[in-house]
Order: sequence, then C-alpha cells, then structure tokens
Amino acid sequence: MRPVDIIIKKRDGLELSPSEIRYFIQGYTSGAITDYQASAWAMAVLLKGMTDKETTELALAMAESGETLDLTGVVEMALDKHSTGGVGDKTSLVVEPVVSACGLRMGKMSGRGLGFSGGTLDKMESVPGFRTNLSKAEFLQQLKEVGVVLTGQTGDLAPADGKLYALRDVTGTVDSLPLIASSIMSKKIAAGAQRIVLDVKVGVGAFMKNLEQARELAHIMVKIARRVNRKAIAVLSDMNQPLGNAVGNALEVKEAIDTLHGNGPKDFREHCLHVASHLIVLGGAAENLKSAKQRAAISLANGSALERFRQLVIAQGGDVSYVDDPEKFPKAQWIEDVPSPRSGYLKWIDAKEIGEASVDLGAGRIKKGDDIDHAVGIVVHHKVGDKIQKGQPLFTLHANDKAKLDPARKRILSAHKWSPKKVKPLPLFYGAVN
Ligand code: URA
Repeated sequence: MRPVDIIIKKRDGLELSPSEIRYFIQGYTSGAITDYQASAWAMAVLLKGMTDKETTELALAMAESGETLDLTGVVEMALDKHSTGGVGDKTSLVVEPVVSACGLRMGKMSGRGLGFSGGTLDKMESVPGFRTNLSKAEFLQQLKEVGVVLTGQTGDLAPADGKLYALRDVTGTVDSLPLIASSIMSKKIAAGAQRIVLDVKVGVGAFMKNLEQARELAHIMVKIARRVNRKAIAVLSDMNQPLGNAVGNALEVKEAIDTLHGNGPKDFREHCLHVASHLIVLGGAAENLKSAKQRAAISLANGSALERFRQLVIAQGGDVSYVDDPEKFPKAQWIEDVPSPRSGYLKWIDAKEIGEASVDLGAGRIKKGDDIDHAVGIVVHHKVGDKIQKGQPLFTLHANDKAKLDPARKRILSAHKWSPKKVKPLPLFYGAVN
C-alpha cells in the first residue's frame, strides 16, 4: 500500500477499506506519512465525503492510534461531553464542575481552537501552569481521586487526532462531517467515559450550517458511540450568534468563572444548565431533566460547582489564585468600547465574523503551532432581539496590536444588523438525537 494511492482513491470519490484507513492513520501518527500527504487526504475527504462505515472506521482507527482508557475497576461510571465547535463556547468550563458537584465523575478530552471556533484547551491555558497533556496514568488517578479531568490529546491518548486536528485548523479542512465526527468520537472513545453528551452546534458560527447537516452529524456520532457500547445523546444548539458575551481565551475563562459564581450571561447560563442536566440524567443522579436542572442550578448558587472548578485547576497544576481573583488574568493593551451607530432591534450578529475577527486579533492560529494571545478578543454586549439605543456600547475590543483595532471594529460593526421592528430572540436549542 502507498499513501498516494489512498489519497487518489478518496480524491476519486471511492470508499476506503478499513485496512486502508488504518494504514493511513497509523502512518500519519508514526510520521511515516507526511503533513502534506495528510493535508491532501483531508481535503479529499472534505470534498468527497465518507460513508458511515468509513467514518466509523476512521473514528476507531484514530481512537486506537494511542491507548484507550478502560475505566472498569477505576471508577463505577464516568461522563463526558463535547461540543462540535462554536464562537464563545466555554460550556465545558461550567458544565464539568456542575456535573461533578452533583456527585458524578467527568473525564473529558478537549480540543484546541479550530478555524474560527475557540478551543477549551487554549482557554484553560490562560490559567498559568494549567496542564492539558495528562498521561494515561495521570488521567486515571485524577478521575478517581478528584472526579473531574479536562485534558487534551497526547502521545498516549488519541495522538492521531492531536496531529490531524492541528493540520485541519490551518488547511481549510475543518468543516467536514466525517472529519469532525471521527475527531470528536476518537477522543470520546479514548477517554473511556461510558455516557456522553454531544453538543452539536448549528448556524452561521458552527461548522454545520443547517439543521439537516447538524442532525446527520448527531446521528453518526451517536451511532459510533453505540458501536463501542457507549451511550450518547446529542443536543442540537443554536450558533448563529456568539454564546454568552465573551469571545477570546482569558475573556471566556473570566466569563465562565463569573457564571460559576451564579452570575454570567443568561443565554450561556441556560445553555450550561441544559447540557449539564442531560449529563446528570444520563449519570443517574436525577430522574428527569427538570430535577437535574434544579440540582445543577443549586450547585451554581451554593458555590459547590465553583469549588469543583478550583479543584480541577489545582489538580492540573494551575495557579488557582487566578480563579479566586480573575482580575489577575492578562489584559490587552488596547481596550475599546464601540458604540452602536444606530437605534433599533438587533436582528443579526454574525457569530462566524466575530470568531474570525477574534482569530485576527491573535486569539487563534494562522499556522500550525502558532502561539496564541490569551488576552485578546471581543465582548459583545447584546443578543438578537435586544433593543439598542444609538451610542450605547455595542461591543468591546481587546487588542495588543493597535493596528488591528480599526479592521476589527469595521468587521464587527458590519456583522451586526438592526431592524426598526421587534425581533424574536433566537432559540437556544433545536431538539435532541439519541
Ligand atoms: N471538536 C473536535 O474535537 N473536532 C472537530 O473536528 C470539531 C470540534
């Protein structure tokens, strides 16, 4: 077998066999297959797609590129969640501690920024010292002793996804259904949790632009989970406007901490409570979503979720004084409030434009391995449906390069649209698939 034959076969729209998929993934993980070959292959997959059978094989091959955790005998049951990627999506930072505060164990393997969408690992690395590369032994020990883990792909765990993910980020190969499904499910399989909630984003600021595509992605991921005897539920959630207000790494961590204090933007809090409720029911700590939501809300109100977040940060070597005093997070040199140029009801905030503007400010990567600037980003102050007066602050830019302020301001202003008539707020969710 030669890598080039597999690339050509996919380029020509043919179905790859399980052994071809495994050969390619093993070769890329070991370094025998190069980045340029993997880029060409990923582009062929994006353009030609994959059958469900290929996608499932790809997820399994990627999961098995490293060790897969067997949690039997370590903990009775572990839960995991994953989002397909959005703008301002800091949900894991709140959901993990909330679910943990409800007496359940969360063992999560997250990703980095991908295209215009931020990544949980990059966000958490705003906390000095926080380690996102736990070994298998460290993962298991922390899951058992602390009950909450948030790490990334490593040489041990899902290494093929670690490499492919970074490559896709900078080669225009992110928004492919089979690549997203296999990337996410490889991490979920490797991390070993028996019950999983998948947050499938849909809209302009998501990789799935319409409900039909989002449902298709949800179905294949739930099916892959079933194939490996895991139980998964996928919720379909709106990603037309940013989730919460903050977009950018440290800014999002601060917003998550505020939410863990019982405050935070209403849409973000509600979103987190809903995702957490599904996990709490799946984990058997509540009989239905209503009582699960009550438990989740109590954990925010009584500080127990915040305490779980502190313990997570401490366990992974992070400086917890940043959680206790979020003013310590790095601040951008240039912070500029931008006023609304007109009055009216907000009818549109293009989440993708906001995400891309944040990447341009330095919050994401232009090429593989780039450093990111944790301090920069955008805070939007309104949601679709809000009534705004001309001159009211519309958004705030946080930049470390003065020259970037002007293009970001223009870009984000044109991502907002107003209407003289009342506008309905956007829904948070569009249902679930299981
Ligand atoms: N999250 C992932 O882990 N992978 C993707 O491809 C998209 C979102």
